Amino acid sequence: MKIYNTLSKRKEEFVPIEPGKVRMYVCGPTVYNFIHIGNARPMIIFDTVRRYFEYKGYEVNYVTNFTDVDDKIIKAALEEGVSSEEISTRYIAECKKDMEGLNVRPATTHPQATKEIDGMIDMISRLIDRDYAYAAADGTVYYRTRKFKDYGKLSHKNIDDLESGHRSIKVAGTEDKEDDLDFVLWKPKKEGEPFWVSPWCEGRPGWHIECSVMAKRYLGDEIDIHAGGEDLIFPHHENEIAQSEAANGCTFARYWMHNAFLNIDGQKMSKSLGNFRTVRDISENYDLQVLRFFMLSAHYRSPLNFSKDLMDAAANGLLRIRTGVEKLDLALEGPAGAAEGEADAEVLAALAELGKKFDDAMDDDFNTADASAALFEIIRLSNTTVTKENVNAATLKALLAKITELCDVLGIIPRAKKEILDEEVERLIAERTQARKEKNFARADEIREELLRQGIVLEDTRNGVTWKRS
Ligand code: AMP
Ligand code: ZN
Repeated sequence: MKIYNTLSKRKEEFVPIEPGKVRMYVCGPTVYNFIHIGNARPMIIFDTVRRYFEYKGYEVNYVTNFTDVDDKIIKAALEEGVSSEEISTRYIAECKKDMEGLNVRPATTHPQATKEIDGMIDMISRLIDRDYAYAAADGTVYYRTRKFKDYGKLSHKNIDDLESGHRSIKVAGTEDKEDDLDFVLWKPKKEGEPFWVSPWCEGRPGWHIECSVMAKRYLGDEIDIHAGGEDLIFPHHENEIAQSEAANGCTFARYWMHNAFLNIDGQKMSKSLGNFRTVRDISENYDLQVLRFFMLSAHYRSPLNFSKDLMDAAANGLLRIRTGVEKLDLALEGPAGAAEGEADAEVLAALAELGKKFDDAMDDDFNTADASAALFEIIRLSNTTVTKENVNAATLKALLAKITELCDVLGIIPRAKKEILDEEVERLIAERTQARKEKNFARADEIREELLRQGIVLEDTRNGVTWKRS
């Protein structure tokens, strides 16, 4: 299995630190608004990477954070006249709803910066003890960038070039900074901002320290994979390396993966440019599975332009998969489903070969575009097999099992959600009422749960049962 490592600028064979296990950290969003579809790209890509590792038999410890203390959150809170916590809590909940819609599985842990302040104070103290950081007179703590000899190794930048680029900028209030390259680990509070008590001043952490601390706490000093969008390579990930490696005295992450941007009209989609579309907007016009399939239609290291044409192509692709699965479902319910006998050896061989094609594509730095092409070939094989006169159940089941398995790796749901009709709800409620009368509470509970799964919430009132769609 090969992964392109930003650190070496090469594809490298994946060797885990601990056999059979993957420790993976992905930088998550800053929560001050609904996430846009640019933010959804790393979420979908790295969720797929995680799913593929699991399909290959690895146990994945997947950590992705929410940045919930930041200038933009504080600004949004001031504008609305509410606390920063109210803003971040609201948008974490909204982000989780979008993730569910995109079929992005919850991480093993979703840490939040504001709940990890003690760990940040510990790591900053350790950096000061090791002379990698210093506190200025006003309580700001800076990282002494030049002391970290490997600075620039991820972004392939030379530290002297960086300095000449920085020299002209002098920011007021930073007079105590020893070097323009030094970056902030802790900063004093300003009026009206959230703050925490620290040995240096009442204040709040810089952005970079949170990821170093959360990765250490939930995954250990050395991790397998660290990932995020390519805009994070410099300075965020470079600074994370400097912090973690100086504090822990070992390599931080072995493989660094970065997705290219999602663009719109040839420009990066971003909140600051104002050219973004939220996942929530898109969900009004499309099944979010289409958005997911669209993201997987390109290699993650290639820029991808958001366009109606590509979304329509993704919608067609998804429909092709779902139609193929529907044909198999129907055939298995019909006469072919009853046909006995062993699975057709020729079909099984073709299926194994196409399955290998899928795996080979994913093994080659997660080439989801080629993997999807292999899946379409399986759909084609399935469509021709299903119409054969003497096809038996075992053959159809083998096709269905493989398609379902590979869809799951890509996070694609192979059957469209069927809206339950009002009449069907009424019929089940009547059946439940009858079951309760007969004291068959197990059946009554089963019906309530089944309806809940389909988004129908029941309420028992004095005047009988009412229901609503959630
Ligand atoms: P942010 O909330 O800006 O810190 O972004 C959260 C994640 O989304 C980071 O991994 C970013 O690199 C990524 N990201 C932001 N905008 C885009 C974009 N247009 N395309 C791809 N990834 C993006
Ligand atoms: Zn980060």
